[in-house]
Amino acid sequence: MTALRLERRVALVTGAAQGIGAAIAEGLAREGASVLATDRDGAGAQATADRIAAVWGESRAAAQALDVTNEEDWQAAITACGERFGGLNVLVNNAGIVAVGSVEDLDLETWRRSMAINADGPFLGCKYALPLMRESGPGSIVNMSSISAMIASHNMAAYNASKAALWMLTKSVALHCARKGWPIRCNSIHPTFVRTALLDGFVGDRDRNEILGKLARQVPIGRIGEVEDVVKAVLYLASDDSSMMTASELKLDGGLSAM
Ligand code: NAD
Repeated sequence: MTALRLERRVALVTGAAQGIGAAIAEGLAREGASVLATDRDGAGAQATADRIAAVWGESRAAAQALDVTNEEDWQAAITACGERFGGLNVLVNNAGIVAVGSVEDLDLETWRRSMAINADGPFLGCKYALPLMRESGPGSIVNMSSISAMIASHNMAAYNASKAALWMLTKSVALHCARKGWPIRCNSIHPTFVRTALLDGFVGDRDRNEILGKLARQVPIGRIGEVEDVVKAVLYLASDDSSMMTASELKLDGGLSAM
């Protein structure tokens, strides 16, 4: 039997109530990690933790309400992680939102909300997780950016900018850890469209299958991503399989950015 890649590791996932974050939390548990599932939707995070506990046992999962824009929530979540699981090895900054609109369409409030959730959130996560992570042995921070950090669209001003900020934050955090000599790596993931509720913003009131079909045709390999495509990349970055990789990025874009 192949050894589990995250045995005796502790992971905290943000935005774990649904979509990619819920699948990541379950994937980390499948590889042996104990998981603190967090979300601003506390009941949704609890449901994810319950699904993990039902398969792997009560000791392997817990949930915590965490709005990633809230500093006190972060401090409480890190404390809870230490108390419940005795440390923290893997932080997945997954929570994020999409606001569709050009620079002229968007109001300042929507811009600030996008920056707050997509960039400030991971900043606070790294800031408050690092003290516990450096006491906990090997560590890995995985930041969920997007291919939109690298390729702009006329109607994605706030998403493009906030995901690009997260991309570069990743590199700064990685270099900080390396300079300090801590065994903590930090990398980002850049998916193209992934089949989740997040795409509803693009679909609007149009036919979902037709729009997803259109999106798939924009991707050179002819399909959009599935959550398990992202889970596999997270497991690689979270585990020692990627021990030489830090301050780097994984593009899951089916060839889109090569065009
Ligand atoms: P989703 O909308 O299905 O889930 C997002 C989760 O984040 C929800 O559970 C929501 O409650 C939570 N959340 C939102 N704001 C929060 C906050 N302030 N604090 C804590 N939790 C909060 O989205 P998804 O498709 O699963 O996306 C997950 C991540 O992947 C996001 O960062 C997104 O930008 C990124 N991503 C998604 C796609 C895609 O096409 N689905 C592509 C590239 C990148």
